[in-house]
Amino acid sequence: MSEVRLQNISKSFGGHTVLPDLNLTVPDGSFTVLVGPSGCGKSTLLRIISGLEEPTSGAVMIGGHDVTLDEPSKRGISMVFQSYALYPHMTVAQNIDFGLRLAKMPAAERKSRVAEAARILALEPYLDRKPAQLSGGQRQRVAIGRSIVRQPKVFLFDEPLSNLDAALRTQMRVELAQLHQSLDATMIYVTHDQVEAMTLADQIVVMNAGRIEQVGAPMELYDRPQTVFVAGFIGSPK
Ligand code: ADP
Ligand code: MG
Repeated sequence: MSEVRLQNISKSFGGHTVLPDLNLTVPDGSFTVLVGPSGCGKSTLLRIISGLEEPTSGAVMIGGHDVTLDEPSKRGISMVFQSYALYPHMTVAQNIDFGLRLAKMPAAERKSRVAEAARILALEPYLDRKPAQLSGGQRQRVAIGRSIVRQPKVFLFDEPLSNLDAALRTQMRVELAQLHQSLDATMIYVTHDQVEAMTLADQIVVMNAGRIEQVGAPMELYDRPQTVFVAGFIGSPK
């Protein structure tokens, strides 16, 4: 059970309020996509869910537990960024294994988890390569592999494909949908790519200036936008 529930979340930086009062339920096992203009607070929201940022007020609930004061590592969450910071001197296998090694997990368990992640992400032929010997898409898969091995209940993605070219983005989109099916995890995914949002999401959350404009299934937003902003945002080409 890994429903994510945000209750009356607010966030200010100095005197500047980025999120005034946000309520959102992300259903267990859903693929929820957050969209909205640059600067509207999407990354801040992900950072609050992951625990990298503390909300000014409000509560973050995961699986019915209040985790607002919990360390990021205690939340069962993993975050994948657009700039996949791999260790250049380590092999793919070592990169994927790194977090498990830090956590002092027994070697046999680590080995089987790395093998499983490599299988799911089709990285088996590349395990002994260094990041510099990989394509952009392969590197992004390694970054996702580092998340998978930790077996999080919730994955957070912050525009993970925005550095990839169009063809690779299309391929990775298919792979992310398969990943969601095979892992049975809750995914919260930020993108400004409408096609990505429409094809990946069970539920799309449209944000504007720190507020939620509308939440709904892709076709629902497309057919019945409740505000002019949603109509413009969902309907307009990228
Ligand atoms: P998005 O991801 O939707 O583009 P962000 O969440 O990154 O938006 O930023 C929302 C707003 O919060 C922006 O105005 C940004 O400048 C501000 N902001 C984000 N992080 C900080 C910070 N650490 N200090 C001050 N302002 C911040
Ligand atoms: Mg952002």
